[in-house]
Amino acid sequence: MFPTIVTAIRIRKRHLVALVVLVFLAFFLARLLEDKSNRQFVAAMAPAVANRVIVVDPGHGGIDPGVVGKNGVLEKDITLAVGQRLAANLGQAGAMVLMTRETDTDLSDSATLGAAAKKGEDLKRRMALANDNQADLYVSVHVNSFPSSKRHGAQTFVQPGMENSMKASQYIQDELAKLLRNTTRQPVEVDYYVTRNTVMPAVVVEIGFISNDAEAKLLEDPAYQGKVAWAIYAGVVKYFAGQGPLTKAEPSREEIIKTFKENSTKGLKP
Ligand SMILES: [Zn+2]
Repeated sequence: MFPTIVTAIRIRKRHLVALVVLVFLAFFLARLLEDKSNRQFVAAMAPAVANRVIVVDPGHGGIDPGVVGKNGVLEKDITLAVGQRLAANLGQAGAMVLMTRETDTDLSDSATLGAAAKKGEDLKRRMALANDNQADLYVSVHVNSFPSSKRHGAQTFVQPGMENSMKASQYIQDELAKLLRNTTRQPVEVDYYVTRNTVMPAVVVEIGFISNDAEAKLLEDPAYQGKVAWAIYAGVVKYFAGQGPLTKAEPSREEIIKTFKENSTKGLKP
């Protein structure tokens, strides 16, 4: 009797292992299919961002590193990498993308002295770039930090009472949750300089916590940065798809597009 029982247990163990492997495979396959169908869905809606003026604002830069991770990683480097990927995605879809910075720099004059004065000038110029060009959306990319290293997850922030900003941030938040699968956070209303002073819908995306070791490592990973950028892009596409088609007859818009195209061909920053 004894050997038969041992054999039966062994067989059951083998079956159990095979079952666990199958469940895992099915789980990952389902995720892959879900991501693929969302990508196809977003690709079909991508024309909604064509000719939209979208400001991509990689937070901080130059003398301002933003928050700093334990291993010395700087927020300004992560935001620039993600911002560049986001701008590329939007540009490929036909959006007119204005980046507040494309290198490790701030927008203040070199003659301006003092960190506070430089920061004030830097932020004012970021706002002016968006407001003067009558942008349709402002997306500011940042990295969060918190005293407790347990806190993690990407989260969007908007000015209270701004309906379209809230819509855009909800779309972006949903895509971040869907694609990264590591946050259940929801958009939060705040009174930030950036959200208060932009005259168009504006969203600040804190893409994760540098104070969480695991998340800090992910935020440095180019593959993860690409995923974050794509999730933000997908949210922006869905937001504009929900806004309906552009009114091309609007004279000011035609003027913006003309100026943008002229400056683009001259290689100038619009
Ligand atoms: Zn920041």
